[in-house]
Amino acid sequence: MKKSPIIIVIVLLTSIAVHSNSTNTEKWSDFAFPAIDVVDKDKVSEGVLIFHRLVPNPDSLFRSCIIEVCKVLYKDKAEVPVKTAFKFNLRNSQGVAATGGNLTGIDMFMNTNYIADFYNRHNKSDEETLSEITGIIIHELTHAYQYSPKGDGGYVNNSEHFSCIEGIADVIRLKTGYVSSEFKRPGGHWNDGYKVTAFFIDWITSLDEDFIYKMNQSTLTITPWTWDKATNHIIGQSVKELWIAYQKSFDTKNEKPVVCLVN
Ligand SMILES: [Zn+2]
Repeated sequence: MKKSPIIIVIVLLTSIAVHSNSTNTEKWSDFAFPAIDVVDKDKVSEGVLIFHRLVPNPDSLFRSCIIEVCKVLYKDKAEVPVKTAFKFNLRNSQGVAATGGNLTGIDMFMNTNYIADFYNRHNKSDEETLSEITGIIIHELTHAYQYSPKGDGGYVNNSEHFSCIEGIADVIRLKTGYVSSEFKRPGGHWNDGYKVTAFFIDWITSLDEDFIYKMNQSTLTITPWTWDKATNHIIGQSVKELWIAYQKSFDTKNEKPVVCLVN
């Protein structure tokens, strides 16, 4: 029987899809996870009880978050900086969370007061609180696995370094489904960091889907690192041109920019 061209194409596409999925799985199988150590310095507060109830198996959550982060930042497990130890500290403290450590160790803290406060401000929603905890862990783990831009003056609010680090951490939170698009707003500046920068980076990925990977890699080769050098290198346009085009993209949705601090 003569096969129709349509059937042949479907069979071919199916075999390509199966091959591509198995290749992708192989790339990330046997990933070298760090040894995880949960240090609970707050055993009694409302926040710590909520955390343990919503996250009964922290190792499982941390491992899935590590893989999600690394799959956006890198193309292959062989590229990922090796981390051998991950200490996760739950504390009754100030702020939300922070990550430090050294070349091979991750030292992260999460504030249990913030968890309780978030839970109570969101109608005691388990679903929203678990999503927030997961999003924070994704953001903080990005800091552990991303490269740091060099020669640009270091981590100072609203600097190139700051917005690169915090923008990438939040865009990975966005790409993995833990930032709602309701936070997307016109205006601001690409150096604002966090969600403002994250939605800008996300928009740039519509021009180059590998932009996050390439932006992280660019910090290895561009010194001192600047947005302008990175976007010219990756996209062939200045950051100012891209920012203006990004702001104009809101006009098409009848959302006029409130502020535009391009200079
Ligand atoms: Zn951060």
